[in-house]
Amino acid sequence: MKIKDLLTSAAGVFMPRTCSVCGKPLDGDEKFLCRKCLMNIPRTHYEEINFNPFEQIMAGKVPIEHCASYFFYQKGDPYASILHDLKYRNMPTLGRWLSERAARDMKDSHFFDDIDVIVPVPLHYTKLASRGYNQSQYLAQGIAKATGLPVTKALKALHEHSTQTHKDAAERLKSTQGMYGASKRHVEELRGKHILIVDDVVTTGSTLLACATALKDAIPGVKISLFTLAAAQLE
Ligand SMILES: [Zn+2]
Repeated sequence: MKIKDLLTSAAGVFMPRTCSVCGKPLDGDEKFLCRKCLMNIPRTHYEEINFNPFEQIMAGKVPIEHCASYFFYQKGDPYASILHDLKYRNMPTLGRWLSERAARDMKDSHFFDDIDVIVPVPLHYTKLASRGYNQSQYLAQGIAKATGLPVTKALKALHEHSTQTHKDAAERLKSTQGMYGASKRHVEELRGKHILIVDDVVTTGSTLLACATALKDAIPGVKISLFTLAAAQLE
């Protein structure tokens, strides 16, 4: 780790002093993002769109009720730095803060109305040990704070994730099959429930598909919806 990253991450434990998107210093009452970047966040509004692009990529694979993402990002655009900060710069509380805000922004859409429980996409324990936290757990907590829904760690990562960056959609799908399992002690309490699986981003949907399949296979009668903080804008 470079000295600069080390200092940034040490500062991030308390409160980052600059906007995660534009890098400008924050006002006293601004948190993580400046007012301007927060106002201009590229919302997907997927929660208001029937058969939105996220639902389209999941279609025909495993039955999913609804899918939503808060904002679009493209590799290298300033808003992608939110995801980088969340995952690699020791800023999980940024995720909790922004997902709480997302859930409040989405309230009128009734996306969360029928959900019974929130389940974060898990990290394999080796990854959890090196990163120190699971960013999806923090995202789940933010949604829980806004909606009052409970969070249950009903999924486990059975294998270590290999890097997905250079794989195409078919390769990703193959590499994520069987990667997740349902935690046995949660099977009974989740029977017939509507579960919201939460992750940081959706690109091909292969991770979420593997998680949804694991829950559907293990728990009778569950319904699944999906939420990610961000959605990759491919074009
Ligand atoms: Zn800004």
